[in-house]
Amino acid sequence: MDIFVLSREDHCRCTLDSCPSVIADRRIASLKPHEAVAALAEEGPTTPFVNRVAKATEVDPAYRRAGVAKIFVQKILEGQSTRDRPHWDWPIYGIGTVIHGIREKKEPQDDEILQYLFASYPAIIDVISRSFMRFIPWNLYGLSRRCLVAWMICAYVAAKDPEMKWKMYDEKTLTLVKFCWADTSPDFLLRVYPAKLLMYMTEESTDGKPNPPDRLEKFAKVLGSMPAFTSSLAFILKGKKLTELMLWHEIAVVRSLISEWHPFAKPFLEGDIPKLVMAAIRRFMKTHPDEEFGGLLEEGELLAVQFILACPPSDTMKNFIYLLNDTCLIEVAVEGLKLASIQSPPGSLLPKGSGTFCLIFSTISHALSVTGSRCECGCNFRSSPEFTEAARAAIERVGLQKLLSLSLVINNWQYFMESLGALSNVLGVSGTSVRERHRLDRKCCNVACPARTSGKRSEKKSACQKCQSVYYCDRECQKKDWSKHKSECATFAQERESKESE
Ligand SMILES: [Zn+2]
Ligand SMILES: [Zn+2]
Ligand SMILES: [Zn+2]
Ligand SMILES: [Zn+2]
Repeated sequence: MDIFVLSREDHCRCTLDSCPSVIADRRIASLKPHEAVAALAEEGPTTPFVNRVAKATEVDPAYRRAGVAKIFVQKILEGQSTRDRPHWDWPIYGIGTVIHGIREKKEPQDDEILQYLFASYPAIIDVISRSFMRFIPWNLYGLSRRCLVAWMICAYVAAKDPEMKWKMYDEKTLTLVKFCWADTSPDFLLRVYPAKLLMYMTEESTDGKPNPPDRLEKFAKVLGSMPAFTSSLAFILKGKKLTELMLWHEIAVVRSLISEWHPFAKPFLEGDIPKLVMAAIRRFMKTHPDEEFGGLLEEGELLAVQFILACPPSDTMKNFIYLLNDTCLIEVAVEGLKLASIQSPPGSLLPKGSGTFCLIFSTISHALSVTGSRCECGCNFRSSPEFTEAARAAIERVGLQKLLSLSLVINNWQYFMESLGALSNVLGVSGTSVRERHRLDRKCCNVACPARTSGKRSEKKSACQKCQSVYYCDRECQKKDWSKHKSECATFAQERESKESE
């Protein structure tokens, strides 16, 4: 199956003798590679046959030996677009398959081919840039074409040539990178290519090869409005169909954009991006409980740590408190602990998987311990009543029940829970305080409530009729909690009456 779908006739599923798809399939099957390349030279730029040659090129080096790269470049540079189809789309797919083919299995003549493709890069990008906006309608074909452009640029990045890579930070490339990323729907599966590309271009290094130090400045220059970019990001993070891989890349993008606390960080905080990232991770875990999400948790934690550790000293505690109060970081972190313990063999001290989440809890503990004006270790953490309260509330929101139930699934629970357990003790988190937190947050007070995970208030809950001060999802939750609530109900009711009569 083809990953890119650029027109109807290229991938028709009928078996009619007159069908262009069928004809192209038979033709490529009947020709030897060098014959197919010769035939390609005579072909229009975007027929199904061009697609078939490109596909065959990826797996068979004989096409490269026969000079297919030059013909694809020629088609891009010399072809003419029609009113509704650019002449360059299958040819750039061909360029990508040549580079990927070389990556798979390099042959002696391939260095020369790569040098030729590197030299042609500016001209290719120039052709795409000139007509890109005309050919990316918001439909399957347009979305597919955006992702194809990103995929081809990714292929150049993946060629791992440092010199070539640095040349790709030109305005035209970066503008394409931006449009492919910002204008592709989060529900579109191939979106992983624009996201990957943006990550490759903005991260510090790709495969150990450094990217230009001013890469973020260069990218910021083509971005235009930062609030607009932030709201695209917010829109994408709210995507309901993001796969683990897609979400991972989007989070990685955020992380590379704020590396070294670049000016991107401020609008991201103002636009609540950390909150949306954590919510997206939680949503993914809830909707795909059986999938592997260790990588996601890890990336989420690294991002959180970056928002706390990479910022200017004066913002450290402010950002920390924000993450505790306004995002579901702790809830995600608890899932990380759970996963780390499951993946680590009993008795092992070094957690596998997303065991790094232990770090969040020990970081909170450390911050709580810094009571003076500076810490011996040189960190920027300072404890404060506001911070203590935020930490306590965040842990209480996760719910003691959930924490205790972790001991049942965790192999070496002591190791993993030590940090969290100690923290709960220091903060005075108890069954009663958890209950009170849920009451104040107007969340269901039933300890065993199936919906009791999110830290958000739910307006749909209904209150106990008598006291009006505890909340439940439904009759079921209320009934389950009655043994606990009956002792406090009268007191709450009285408190309310006296308040009302004041
Ligand atoms: Zn057909
Ligand atoms: Zn310290
Ligand atoms: Zn409930
Ligand atoms: Zn009551």
